[in-house]
Amino acid sequence: MMAQSRCWGLNSRGISTPSPFLCLSSSTSSFSRPPLRYAVLGAGFAGLSVAFHLLSESAKELNLCIDIYDEIGIGGGASGVSGGLIHPYSPKAKLLWRGAECWNECLRLLSTAETAAMCSDDFDLGVSDFHGLIVQKRGILRPAVSMKNLLLLSDNARNCLSSCRIETIDKEAAQNLVPDLCVPFNTAFHMPQAVNIHPQRYLQALYVACENLVKEQSSSGIGEKELHLHKKSVHKILDLEGEYQAVIICLGAKADMLPELAGRIPLRTCRGVVAHLKLPDDIREEYPELGPSILSDAWLAIQGPRSLYMGSTWEWKSRNSSPNVSTSEASKALEELLPKAYAIYPDLKNWTFTTARAGLRAMPPLTPHGSLPLLGCVNDIVGENNGCKYWLFGGLGARGLLYHGWLGKLMAQAVLACNEQLIPSELTSWKKRI
Ligand SMILES: Cc1cc2nc3c(=O)[nH]c(=O)nc-3n(C[C@H](O)[C@H](O)[C@H](O)COP(=O)(O)OP(=O)(O)OC[C@H]3O[C@@H](n4cnc5c(N)ncnc54)[C@H](O)[C@@H]3O)c2cc1C
Repeated sequence: MMAQSRCWGLNSRGISTPSPFLCLSSSTSSFSRPPLRYAVLGAGFAGLSVAFHLLSESAKELNLCIDIYDEIGIGGGASGVSGGLIHPYSPKAKLLWRGAECWNECLRLLSTAETAAMCSDDFDLGVSDFHGLIVQKRGILRPAVSMKNLLLLSDNARNCLSSCRIETIDKEAAQNLVPDLCVPFNTAFHMPQAVNIHPQRYLQALYVACENLVKEQSSSGIGEKELHLHKKSVHKILDLEGEYQAVIICLGAKADMLPELAGRIPLRTCRGVVAHLKLPDDIREEYPELGPSILSDAWLAIQGPRSLYMGSTWEWKSRNSSPNVSTSEASKALEELLPKAYAIYPDLKNWTFTTARAGLRAMPPLTPHGSLPLLGCVNDIVGENNGCKYWLFGGLGARGLLYHGWLGKLMAQAVLACNEQLIPSELTSWKKRI
């Protein structure tokens, strides 16, 4: 509750700003104060997590107005097409940086969103797929496919979190979970607590959770909260100049396409195609009801006994953020992904392709701590020298779900307190290298 002790004054444009000189007396009603206005650009995992935490982390008596801008709408970018697989481990590094905090905060946010959806009369769970759920706790299974892979995953298993155990199992145990699975090194790693989410439904539910916070806090009569979603493209950050206390840029791979940031943030883009497959009606043998999703050179995110997503391709340097996939792009993706998936799950031969969709990842540079998202105040880059006004929360790479909860919370706390020091230096140090 950092903002609680802050005093606010009005700037020349009538916007309230933190002021060291002016303190409203405790008898002044909070309703008489103009709201603090924040713009969140992007309604993906990053943007909605920041919006949620701006609401949940701000002082109850604060009058707050949040405008979310997204050119497509909720989940219009990579978040909406992601595989929805979450676990706190890296197949390439020994331990993921701050894996426990990221994992716990991610689960907390998922559960908040689920509760919000369940309590909402208007929320359409669309029962036809994903069992009508937002989160499925079916776990993830990862067969070792090389000796190097086996050693790294064994190391992960020895150092695993108790809240997301890794069980090392043999071929027979793996095939009890997924019949006919290929387990070339007679070893597979099972994460029974790892989760699969339905990304679009989760984001919609997270937005409902934001709306609920607004209603609860406003009805308490202590402070007024507002939340608006604008389906609008932001062409220049400086177009928002003068309207907001802070602007938080959560535009995923398209952050780099804003003129003020273009070529100035160390992000690489990478397009990924995901294919949906289903089991034809004449095939009786289904995927096990609660069988785990599978991670390998290609992943299978199981939606139900007759529906799964297979991913993903990696087209580096692509600038194409369209979710639409042409017939030729889809066949190229199938040509690449199917052999990798058959190698581990040969029964996939019975499944048929239905549709494909794609998203553009924002890949951050590699650091001694792994590939970490880019956070921090970007006033210097934008060319603004007044307070901490412009912030970036980007570069979530291929692990946006794991990172969005905790880092979204840190970002909101830093924005509310106008204090970048609240963000761990590992996440802001990219600015020293540009
Ligand atoms: C194929 C694929 C599969 C993936 N699978 C997984 C997975 O299983 N698990 C996992 O953790 N991660 C996965 N990821 C990574 C994950 O999707 C990303 O890390 C995450 O979505 C990034 O979230 P974001 O909010 O930063 O960006 P985005 O989700 O891209 O959100 C940015 C938003 O900004 C909007 N926008 C962009 N430009 C503008 C503008 N100028 N004005 C207004 N609005 C704008 C977009 O419409 C979009 O909604 C996957 C990614 C891809 C591509």
